[in-house]
Amino acid sequence: MNLSVTESDVLLGKSLAELTAWMEQQGQPAYRGKQLYQWLYQKGARSLAEISVFPKQFRESVADYPIGRSNIHFRAVAPDKTRKYLLQLQDGLIIETVGIPTSKRLTVCVSSQVGCPMDCDFCATGKGGFTRNLKAYEIVDQVLTVQNDFGQRVSNVVYMGMGEPLINLDEVAKSVKLLNQDVGIGQRSLTVSTVGLPNKIRELAEQKLQITFAVSLHASNQALREQLIPSAQHYSLQQLLAECREYVEITGRRVTFEYILLAGVNDNPENAQELIKHLRGFQTHVNLIPYNPISEVDYQRPDKQRIKQFQDILQQNKIAVTVRYSRGLSADAACGQLRASRR
Ligand code: SAH
Repeated sequence: MNLSVTESDVLLGKSLAELTAWMEQQGQPAYRGKQLYQWLYQKGARSLAEISVFPKQFRESVADYPIGRSNIHFRAVAPDKTRKYLLQLQDGLIIETVGIPTSKRLTVCVSSQVGCPMDCDFCATGKGGFTRNLKAYEIVDQVLTVQNDFGQRVSNVVYMGMGEPLINLDEVAKSVKLLNQDVGIGQRSLTVSTVGLPNKIRELAEQKLQITFAVSLHASNQALREQLIPSAQHYSLQQLLAECREYVEITGRRVTFEYILLAGVNDNPENAQELIKHLRGFQTHVNLIPYNPISEVDYQRPDKQRIKQFQDILQQNKIAVTVRYSRGLSADAACGQLRASRR
């Protein structure tokens, strides 16, 4: 079988109707399309050869057909049981995916791009540059890979791995629908996180998805945000917040704001007060993320007391707030530490 197939030939990512048509093209009866669909999305088949309900001769003839699954290139397990994967895609490129088990849940942190062009100052992913967008099936593959490796159903997916999801909105939205309708994960258990790009939040809102939506705010004023996030120079805090308000109006869903805490940079009580002004009357939730160290920059994580002080100020002003202590820190699998390498 010729392996230089085009991306449209890849089976993962196709609908039941498309898979049925493909099976018919191969001279197989239509009901085999349903079997293929179940094996791809439910059983997580990695090749057509292992689909034991197919006739042996057919299986052999299509054994090498690219169905769209990656290979686990490397896996690290942190003491807290978080697993970080380097996955090799069909074109040889490497992405990172993280599996985060808790007592009741299994959350997968997926990448939406190979690398990231945003170059936020505190994030390791951007330091390695940007290569390409991922296809929807390559996002679905990450979830199936973790599900299979843990031997447990994935309950939640967060688009917080490598990349900026809203640059790749079409494929991200397509992957949300696949994960929801075909893999069977509830839309509310899917979280898309963005640094925000002009008009893109509105575009996402217009898709009317029932997902959880998070925005990486990280700063309480424009100057500070520009210092941390280069793209903020072309997108003011005012514009960003206005689009977030539209998001709430269009979808009826609240927005979560992520706020990384960098000691002495954005964790002062004055920053908390500024933040409150922006968020007053907003249907929102703030997620504070104490900085996870990366080697390229010398930011510090604030101490516990300082984190609590920031949290308390928001709470006293009736803003719902939680602190996210990232899992997987020692395996470099925590937020901001993903760089497609083993260190
Ligand atoms: N591009 C998207 C999603 C990827 S990052 C976004 O910006 O939202 C997922 C979250 O981890 C973001 O809030 C990001 O800002 C945060 N993050 C990045 N580097 C980090 C670091 N070193 N420590 C803690 N959080 C970090």
